[in-house]
Amino acid sequence: MLSSIAGRSVIVTGGSKGIGKGIAKVFARNGAKVLVVSRNLSEAEATAEELKRDGGTASGIAADVTQMGDLQVMAEAAHSRHGGIDILCANAGIFPQGTIEELSPEDWDHVLGTNLKGTFLSLKACLPYLKASDQGRVVVTSSITGPVTGFPGWTHYGASKAGQLGFLRTACLELAKHKITVNAVLPGNILTEGLIAMGDEYLQSMAASIPLKKLGTVEDIGYAALFLASKEAAYITGQTIIVDGGQILPESLDALK
Ligand code: NAP
Repeated sequence: MLSSIAGRSVIVTGGSKGIGKGIAKVFARNGAKVLVVSRNLSEAEATAEELKRDGGTASGIAADVTQMGDLQVMAEAAHSRHGGIDILCANAGIFPQGTIEELSPEDWDHVLGTNLKGTFLSLKACLPYLKASDQGRVVVTSSITGPVTGFPGWTHYGASKAGQLGFLRTACLELAKHKITVNAVLPGNILTEGLIAMGDEYLQSMAASIPLKKLGTVEDIGYAALFLASKEAAYITGQTIIVDGGQILPESLDALK
């Protein structure tokens, strides 16, 4: 397995639940020191406790990815608690639905501010520490929605997720001289608390549209992030891995028979 993760300091934004928690678990099981980040301190700490009970090294902190000051405190905490920052998993994100007619300018800014600007701010806050690492890695959680597919009600979300890829394709060039790689995982439909809240009907119709006939697990995303964060992936930068059970491929319903 990938041996280059043990002892590394990893920040997972949005690590208290869902995909972020899956990423945090996979890194902790592989020996990383994990800082679990969410706006809710008790939930971040509860997840960190779970990781520790599982034999991992972890702690939790509250930070809002829309607030630069919070993110600087987060980065300093990773430095003081875990000795620096080797890997940033910029995962925190929100996906409220609303058609163009329903969305207010404020709704738009809220989603773009969290998902896209939050990615930029998280990387900016961690950069001084990532530069000091000999295995600087940034792994962004984007989505198939936006970069590859569309879904009514998610114009703002899709724009934010496609924007993350535009961001990383230049970020990787700027940071190459520091040997920092910047890549993204593009999840399809992954069974998380957030997605379960969309309701049974949504979950069933999604599963039916996926060639592998099931939604993904949070660990499926964690393993892709783990690979991109490893020393073994040192020559991969500015790239994306789609983890979607084949969801983007069928040309028609016939292709799913
Ligand atoms: P989730 O279950 O709702 O979890 C979201 C996490 O982000 C929580 O830890 C939440 O904690 C945190 N968060 C939200 N806003 C934040 C903020 N402003 N600052 C800091 N933390 C914040 O969501 P998820 O489904 O795991 O999604 C995680 C990421 O995967 C997102 O970027 C999403 O776009 C992407 N994604 C998900 C799917 C899917 O099928 N689930 C598919 C494609 C892409 P607090 O609320 O306490 O802050």
